Amino acid sequence: MTRDVRYDASPGMVIQAWRSAEDGLRLRVLGSDEEVRLQCRCGRCHWIVREQFAGGHVSLLVTCHSCGTRATYAMEGVTLPAP
Ligand SMILES: [Zn+2]
Repeated sequence: MTRDVRYDASPGMVIQAWRSAEDGLRLRVLGSDEEVRLQCRCGRCHWIVREQFAGGHVSLLVTCHSCGTRATYAMEGVTLPAP
């Protein structure tokens, strides 16, 4: 079973990959072998996801579908789109 992680449980976590599943947003986190499911404080696990490229760094911006809570995480290992 996929473990649920609260969005504010580890603000420093580094995301290697993400995907949308039927039951919520799945994240692959640096230093962990298994995917986790990101859970909001409202209990929902569905997020609007945006990848933001700035200064050679990539951030993952997530916004809760249900209550609008937002969070930002660092991403690693993402290939920048070719210009
Ligand atoms: Zn929420």
